[in-house]
Amino acid sequence: MPRILIAGGAGFLGANLSRRLLKDNNEVVCLDNLSTGHYQNIRDLTPSPRFEFIKADIVDPINLSFDKVFNLACPASPPQYQRLALQTIDACTLGVRNLLEATRRNNARMLHASTSEVYGDPEIHPQIESYRGNVGTLTDRACYDEGKRLAETLCYEYHKRGCAVRIARLFNTYGPFMDQDDGRVVSNFTISALTEQPLTIYGDGSQTRSFCYVSDTVEALLRFMDLAGDNLPVYNLGNPREVRIVDLAHSILQLTGSNAPMHFHSLPEADPKKRKPCIKRAHQTMNWLPRVSLESGLLQTIDYFTQLLRQQTNETGL
Ligand code: UDP
Repeated sequence: MPRILIAGGAGFLGANLSRRLLKDNNEVVCLDNLSTGHYQNIRDLTPSPRFEFIKADIVDPINLSFDKVFNLACPASPPQYQRLALQTIDACTLGVRNLLEATRRNNARMLHASTSEVYGDPEIHPQIESYRGNVGTLTDRACYDEGKRLAETLCYEYHKRGCAVRIARLFNTYGPFMDQDDGRVVSNFTISALTEQPLTIYGDGSQTRSFCYVSDTVEALLRFMDLAGDNLPVYNLGNPREVRIVDLAHSILQLTGSNAPMHFHSLPEADPKKRKPCIKRAHQTMNWLPRVSLESGLLQTIDYFTQLLRQQTNETGL
């Protein structure tokens, strides 16, 4: 039975990946410093003899044995990585290096979760993997963007030194186990709609993103990890359906049946104007395409947050 380490396993993506790996009969070690992840996300998995949770930071030396490691350990939401800017840089540099060292020591394989943010505010559309990006070093997003770029370079250097690595550039992913307070657009709009609070649109809402439902992302990560070959594969993983943020707000209002208003605020610094992945590589080599429509994914996400809010109301007795 393969022993699989998930760094950042108690976060949004990690919680979904842990569930799927356990379902597929793997042994899962979930490592998380719980800075933006939550124990609650994986608490129900802990009775399984094939699941182990370790509270630790990848910045500290990692003395674990494993066959494969998914590195998902990094704050990923703009308000969170800006609040934790120095920790974000450390996770992307010291942390990634520690994981690569541990991967090499174990003669294992690592899938590193990179991001569409390595393209910055892109000048080509849709973004292809060979695009080098339009990124600034001196912006509020740079701790994450530049951190993730350097993390890719670390993967490159370790690959040259014989380490088996693959790099997944994830585009906006959403679904159950998103943190209700993490500040990303899908969770913000959904919570606001469900509580009849104003939806906060940054800028005029004409900026675009392409949203991938988490089960599609998890499927891609699993296929990518098991892809044969000795090169250093770099794949965009995301859903190429591009939507304007203001249209996303309308969809969420419609799907929740909410009457919440939209409030317009100034656009945060360095907020990319558009984003859409070219996923030809992943499609051609792994026969992977996202299957879940935006409407269906949003409905499942709305369902998750509805239950979460109901639980919280019951707990506080309100
Ligand atoms: N956004 C918004 N309202 C919110 C949160 C985000 O209008 O409450 C916008 C944000 O400015 C960006 C897009 O939605 O243009 C996606 O933001 P998110 O933080 O989810 O991810 P990003 O792709 O920017 O990392």
